[in-house]
Amino acid sequence: MGDEVSVERARYDFKKAMQDIVDLRGRGTELISVYVPAHKQISDVTSYLRNEYSQSNNIKSKGTKKNVQGAIESIMSRLKTFNTVPDGGLVLFCGEVAAGGDQTRMVQYVLEPPEPISAFLYRCDSTFFIEPLTDMLKEKKAYGLIVMDRAEASIGLLIGKKVNMIKNFDSMVPRKHRQGGQSAQRFERLIELAAHEFFKKIAHHVEEAFLERDDLQGIIVGGPGATKDFFVKEGYLHHELQKKVVDTFDTGYTDEYGLKELVTNAAASLHDMDLMREKELIQKLLSEIRKQDGGVSAYGEDHVRNLLIAGAVDTLLVSEGLDSKRVKLTCNNGHTREFTAAKVPSKLECNECDSPVEDVESIDLVDHFFELSETVGSKLELISAESEEGDMLIKAFGGIAAILRFQVVL
Ligand code: ZN
Repeated sequence: MGDEVSVERARYDFKKAMQDIVDLRGRGTELISVYVPAHKQISDVTSYLRNEYSQSNNIKSKGTKKNVQGAIESIMSRLKTFNTVPDGGLVLFCGEVAAGGDQTRMVQYVLEPPEPISAFLYRCDSTFFIEPLTDMLKEKKAYGLIVMDRAEASIGLLIGKKVNMIKNFDSMVPRKHRQGGQSAQRFERLIELAAHEFFKKIAHHVEEAFLERDDLQGIIVGGPGATKDFFVKEGYLHHELQKKVVDTFDTGYTDEYGLKELVTNAAASLHDMDLMREKELIQKLLSEIRKQDGGVSAYGEDHVRNLLIAGAVDTLLVSEGLDSKRVKLTCNNGHTREFTAAKVPSKLECNECDSPVEDVESIDLVDHFFELSETVGSKLELISAESEEGDMLIKAFGGIAAILRFQVVL
């Protein structure tokens, strides 16, 4: 994984930024939105912006002109920090937004969207142009799809409502009819051997396609007849992926159409699974908490953080509804202090001396836990704020709880 930010975290960060952006207003037509698809050259974008900059000389209002040009300049200098456009493209929002009374403040957002940007777009308006992104905010979990029989297999991925075929291939397994000159038994053995090799090949491609995806919620397997069940039951899949198999479903086809058929037939299970997953995690937490000795559970921000750092946390449960910052202050004398607050306080002082605070770092609290859990290799599960379970997590446990690797005696 390295420095890679997990898919879950990238999506959370994106969602969080969008919550801010949607409410921002300019005082004039002066907020700039730029969408850059992956194939676009940075230099092309820069020359486009340079042209917009000179066009903006025609703007009559002095204030608006100044703000538009300031925003364009700021975007251009930000673009310089990129050699190439990231794979999914880039979205930049920049401008002076109203900040109460006569005040304005400059904001700049650079987002790497969770789904690719398809077209270049430049807008200057009194709000940021976010329509192309709103659809990406819907929760989109990935499911692995396999359709197969002994003749053909297809592997695909379901994200949101979209089915993408990843691989399709045929087997060399001969059909089960007698061939001249060979004994029936020997032929039967060859067929089984060929089928075995084919199943191994399917498992290999499935592993290549899915093992590294940390957004994979489950795998569903389809196909006509009993072959798919045999494949699942005999454990051909990598053990990590085997655990993710949700169920098997009958389909008539084993090609791309078969993948779509599979999704249709599994729709009810998939829907329940999204809901079930959160329910199960919270139920597991509650059943541990109910144990007299507290079982392998923990809750409360500080307590969970300490256990996390100690390597005791298996799964961290964090509510998406947490709306706080983790703030770290460093004074001139090098004293540091960390605390959680709804927002960064305006008056900052050192607790240990009279020196002024020199450095203030603040990070979204959920991101703070994403970072910690990545460092120690614990899983972090975001629990939506809307569900009954999510509501309980916030109200009863302050939005942060954990299922532990082992019991910790206090
Ligand atoms: Zn100090």
